[in-house]
Amino acid sequence: MNIDEFQLRGKEMIEYICEYLRTLEGKRVTANVDPGYLRPMLPKEAPAKGESWDAIMRDVDSKIMPGITHWQHPRFHAYFPAGNSFPSILGDMLSDAIGCIGFSWASSPACTELETIVLDWYAKAIDLPPEFLAEHKSSKGGGVIQGSASECILVTMLAARTQAIRTLKEQDPNTEDSAFLPRLVAYCSTEAHSCVEKAAMIGLVKLRVLEPDEKGSLRGKRLESAIREDVSNGLVPFFVSTTLGTTGSCSFDNLVEIGPICKLYPNIWLHVDGAYAGNAFICPEMRPFMAGIEHADSFNTNPNKWLLVNFDCSCLWVRDRVKLTSALVVNPLYLQHAKSGESIDYRHWGIPLSRRFRALKLWFVMRSYGITGLQKYIRNHIRLARRFETLMRRDKRFEITNDVRVGLVCFRLKESDEINQELLANINASGRLHMIPARVMGKYILRFCVIKENATEDDIDYAVDVIEEHATEVMLAHYE
Ligand code: PLP
Repeated sequence: MNIDEFQLRGKEMIEYICEYLRTLEGKRVTANVDPGYLRPMLPKEAPAKGESWDAIMRDVDSKIMPGITHWQHPRFHAYFPAGNSFPSILGDMLSDAIGCIGFSWASSPACTELETIVLDWYAKAIDLPPEFLAEHKSSKGGGVIQGSASECILVTMLAARTQAIRTLKEQDPNTEDSAFLPRLVAYCSTEAHSCVEKAAMIGLVKLRVLEPDEKGSLRGKRLESAIREDVSNGLVPFFVSTTLGTTGSCSFDNLVEIGPICKLYPNIWLHVDGAYAGNAFICPEMRPFMAGIEHADSFNTNPNKWLLVNFDCSCLWVRDRVKLTSALVVNPLYLQHAKSGESIDYRHWGIPLSRRFRALKLWFVMRSYGITGLQKYIRNHIRLARRFETLMRRDKRFEITNDVRVGLVCFRLKESDEINQELLANINASGRLHMIPARVMGKYILRFCVIKENATEDDIDYAVDVIEEHATEVMLAHYE
């Protein structure tokens, strides 16, 4: 494809995208295909000779689209939002066209500098403590874009592990680093995302998974008694992963209680995962839910979940960037450059070397919407979640199982898990609405998340109608 053809096909692709988004509502939300559906439809090998663009796009329509779960569909209420907006798509297009690989300042200065600046913008917009900003020369903190919240948690856990091993090594310099690993222990609650468990697996450290209170919030006393017990058994607590807005039910751990306990143990790194709900702190009225953030060593939130930015864009801020980078620095000659000492080289802040220019889409979104536009978006979702809650509470067959604070409502029929599973399976099979379940505090629940950028009351009312209709059917089938 040459540049003239790209110009033509690019315009056609924009048309195709607009048509896709305009007509989404008429489609099933979920794909109606079985595993392996695609293989018989495609040749066994890549074509030897290049094919026409028209032929490729015909296959997109007839073979790929039927296998798509439409995350941007107005009836998609599963998981958390997959952030999306036109300014963000345009940002990614430009990033792809520039095609730079921003592993060091020198490898594309604007790519690095915009990331640092936009992360400072966002940190201020959600009112993170100033220590997390990179803007002052004397600052030890700063922000970085990672590919996912899982990576944010992994790299902070690895950084905390390095710090803890260093301290232990001061007392015991002749011991191999790996010999300290069996003594290290990290903590999270049963409601934390499974990526914390995965990080501990990768890091070869113990993880104690603690029971939260009846609201799903990890409390200080519970953590304190676990830490004391472990210390008395000769273990070294080194990392506490807390969550503001858990995946299952959007509960919030109690940082006001947890923070001071972590401070009592110099090796403990306190991480705060706000992958979804952290974005809501752009609204001042939501900030009481981040009380205690001043105790955190690091914080992450994903604009690619709830700030209209396309995947991937997971923001991580650390209080002390040297503690992060010292776990991750390797420095071959071919990556060094003349300005290394004066600039940020983001390759030291994460696992991959190569990095896309992701700051561009976050910058486009922040500038196009402005803080007030983004607040309006978040507030609309919270308002609609409350509407859904109110409507569902009116139907006495249902119970609401979480405190609705952001865009997620958890509910269930006041019936057995089996009936609730059947309800969800029927709704999803109908293709009219898509939700997923979770097990929260031992209970099987259905999660309803407000997802669409400009979701309306009608979208919520439609969802309630579909759920009620299916509930009636399931109950009739069981009790007739
Ligand atoms: N943390 C929380 C609270 C989440 O809800 C999720 C995913 O939904 C994650 C972490 C993992 O996110 P990612 O897919 O960015 O790794």
